[in-house]
Amino acid sequence: MNNNRIALVTGASRGIGFAIAKLLALNGFVVIGTATSKCGVDIINNSLEYNIIGKILDLSSYDSINNFLSTVFSEFSNIHVLVNNAGITNDSLFIRMSDTLWQSVINVNLTSIFYITKAVLKRMIINKFGRIINIGSVISSIGNIGQVNYATTKSGIIGFSKSLAKEVARYNITVNVISPGFIITDMTKKLSDKQRNNILSKIPLNRFGTPEDIAHVVLFLSSSNSSYITGETINVNGGMYMI
Ligand code: NAP
Repeated sequence: MNNNRIALVTGASRGIGFAIAKLLALNGFVVIGTATSKCGVDIINNSLEYNIIGKILDLSSYDSINNFLSTVFSEFSNIHVLVNNAGITNDSLFIRMSDTLWQSVINVNLTSIFYITKAVLKRMIINKFGRIINIGSVISSIGNIGQVNYATTKSGIIGFSKSLAKEVARYNITVNVISPGFIITDMTKKLSDKQRNNILSKIPLNRFGTPEDIAHVVLFLSSSNSSYITGETINVNGGMYMI
């Protein structure tokens, strides 16, 4: 069903992005997945059974974004599903947060989405079809000590998505956010046992999420079954935050 559909997933070498790329590929999408290094691209390309095409993309570099977009659009005329997944944390108490820590997270998690989405959107508008899925975080809803920069980007993604959803709905393009809770990936492996237990005590379903918990929602939002949903944030957090 999705055989001619092309999906672009940023940050597909590990964690949530890898699970998303894998599930979309298993469901017939041609998937372009990105990593920041040749090593990450090799990991993606070596998952040949899933038919994911690995490309280098460093969202902290404007040149890398430009090179990536030129390469992709020389090979593919259109992208049907864009998953802006890649993201980083660079934690610090706000009073000690340097310009570098602030800018690094803003650039990778938020500004890059402006560039990537704009380039992809031009083709989606011509094609009169598109699914844009941005990965947010429960932290934008509840806040977190040491993550003023990260929370700002994830809140920004929601405003970005709602406004863009209104602009492009007439082209049959939907824009939604998936807001994960705590998911077991390299990002959360940094947590201490104490932090882990504290978080777990606040999750009614009493477990951390898996990357696949997020990937299944991405698959739904990529499908025709979700064609009447736009501008929404879908929380996938085991009940730790309920609207
Ligand atoms: P992860 O395991 O740390 O993986 C991050 C991915 O992003 C990797 O593929 C990495 O590529 C890529 N990446 C890192 N820096 C990049 C850059 N400068 N340019 C382009 N790509 C870059 O992260 P994750 O836990 O899967 O998180 C994925 C998304 O979910 C993020 O947006 C995160 O904020 C969000 N999220 C995660 C959780 C959670 O609990 N894990 C919760 C809420 C939201 P390399 O392998 O090349 O470094």
